Order: sequence, then C-alpha cells, then structure tokens
Amino acid sequence: PQRVFSGIQPSGGLTLGNYLGALKRFATAQDAGIQTIYCMVDLHAITVWQDPENLRRATRELAAGFLASGIDPTRSILFNQSQVSAHAELAWVFNCVARMGWLQRMTQFKDKAGKNSQNASVGLFAYPALMAADIMAYHATHVPVGEDQKQHLELTRDIAIKFNNDFGVDFFPIVEPVIEGAATRVMSLRDGTKKMSKSDPSDQSRINLTDNADTISTKIRKARTDAEPLPESLEGLDGRAEARNLVNIYAALADLTPAQVLAQYGGQGFGAFKPALADLAVDKLSPISAEMTRFMQDPAEIDRILGDGADRADAIASPILDQTYDIVGLLRSR
Ligand code: ATP
Ligand code: MG
Repeated sequence: PQRVFSGIQPSGGLTLGNYLGALKRFATAQDAGIQTIYCMVDLHAITVWQDPENLRRATRELAAGFLASGIDPTRSILFNQSQVSAHAELAWVFNCVARMGWLQRMTQFKDKAGKNSQNASVGLFAYPALMAADIMAYHATHVPVGEDQKQHLELTRDIAIKFNNDFGVDFFPIVEPVIEGAATRVMSLRDGTKKMSKSDPSDQSRINLTDNADTISTKIRKARTDAEPLPESLEGLDGRAEARNLVNIYAALADLTPAQVLAQYGGQGFGAFKPALADLAVDKLSPISAEMTRFMQDPAEIDRILGDGADRADAIASPILDQTYDIVGLLRSR
C-alpha cells in the first residue's frame, strides 16, 4: 500500500511556496484516503543556528499552519521529528551508507553554505542522510515535495539501493518523488531566478501565510515583472521568469492550469493581472491565516497533538529501526 511522508522545517514562518508546493498537496493526499505522515523537521532546522525560544515558537506555529491548511491530526500523523528518536538513529546508519561524493553534489548545501563552506555545520552537509532517514523510518513510498527537493529524493533512493545491496536485503523501498502541480517551484517576488524561501532575509521576497490582506496586495503589486502584457500561450512565457511565476501562482491558487490562466488574461498587462492575483491570494490565504491565529491561542493543545502524533509515529518507526540494526549486525541484548 501507499504511505506518504513529508516534512517542513520550523526555520521561519510559512510562505506561499510552502503552501502551494507542500501543505496544500499534503491535504489533498490525506483527503484521498492514503496513509499520511507529516513531520515538523526541527532536527533539520538546527543545521543552521536557531534561537531556542524562537525554535519552540516556530515549531508550534508550523503545527498551526498544518492544521489550518486542512491536516486533520486524527487522519494524518502530525508530529515533530525530535520527539521520535528513530530519525536521528537511522540517520547515523545512513551517514555510514552515503558517500562523501554524493553529498558534495547537493546544490542545496552549496546554496546554503555559501562561499565559506568550510564554516558550515557538519549537519548541514549531512542533511540529506537525515532526510532519507525521515522517509525510510516509515518505509514511505511517496513523498510530495517542491521541485527544490528533487535532488535530495534521488539521494534517498541511492541510499536505499546501496543499503539493500550492501546487506543483500530487500528492506528499504525505493521512493517515488511526487512533484506535481503548477507551483512546485514558487520564485522570489524580487528575483525570478531564486526560489521563495522562509529563511530568505528579505521579507519582500515572499508572501507569508500570516501576512494580512494589505501586505499581500502590496507585495504582489511591487513584485518584479517586465513591462510586456501577458502572452496568449505558454511558449510566450519563455525567458520571462517573473511573469511565469505569477501565472503559476495564480493557476495553483485557482486550481487551474497555467494555460487556462493565459486563456483568460493573455493580452492584458500586469496593471490588470496583479490586482486580480492579489484578490485571489487574499481570498485563499486569509482563512488559513485566521485559522492559524486561532490554533496558536492554545499552545497546550498543539503540544498535545504533537505528542500524540509522536507516539503513533514511534509505533511505526521503532520496529523498522530495530530491524535495521539487526540487518547491520548491531547487537541488541535488552
Ligand atoms: P528554508 O529556506 O529554511 O529551507 P523553505 O521555505 O525552503 O525553508 P523547507 O522547510 O525547506 O522550506 O521545505 C518544506 C517544503 O516546502 C518542501 O517540500 C519544499 O520543497 C517546499 N518548498 C519550499 N520552498 C518552495 C517554493 N518556493 N516553491 C514550492 N515549494 C517549496
Ligand atoms: Mg528549504
């Protein structure tokens, strides 16, 4: 049977990119009746320094974001990574399976470590092995993510294949990345070549799920674009990264294809398109923002939900970890 796993880091406030590339699709998978396991990956967040108080608050706010996006903690398993020790334990085994050369090719490490990569944490370098552990601890078969995580999922497959080969077993499944929809790579509003990120220092680069209607409208109005009207067909978006980005966002929010959006707005300028997009974004995001605020008023309830989710996650992951230790030959005598 299918089992879906995915995660989001509590490394800042949720963005429109996280919503369209991840959360909205997480809810769809859950509503399709597939077993879904969703994780706040706090161990990934600390690969770059996080203020401890902020991290706790961001973890609860992220949980509120999941709940507000339609994740039902009775139908999905919702928890934070550090409460289930199998993630860190399996990651160690995978650190010993993954090769230095594989990790050195990861573009996210290069982007996040920047020029002075000698100064990056070892954790940031080993991040993809922990991500492989997150997925494999549940024998997950499908992982919905944004386009930026494609390379890490290929590494997850490589680790599973090498583990199975090294030990002559058919134990870890080979996962399928699920990268679908019009907005699997939402770009920065300031720079059409960079993806929108919650950890980007510029708040103007992104729409936060907690932004109010005025802020959303202003950010869209000020989003960088060229001066041409929108094209009538998709080919007309070639070489126009910013225009393509806004069309993709509109399509994903409205559950249309980009071609359908162009059929409606082709020939019109951004003076007409941006206000329509702003109205649509406010319409779709305001209820989520209001729900997040409501959930955040009861942090004890959030903690209870995450604790319960961790128990249920642990019940799946612990036996898989035990079997892994057994395969590797690590002695268990209690
Ligand atoms: P950070 O900047 O700290 O890495 P992030 O915004 O990239 O934060 P992550 O927690 O790394 O968020 O990723 C969570 C999920 O959101 C992943 O599935 C990722 O692919 C997806 N995602 C992140 N940014 C975008 C984006 N701009 N467009 C579509 N999906 C995205
Ligand atoms: Mg990221």
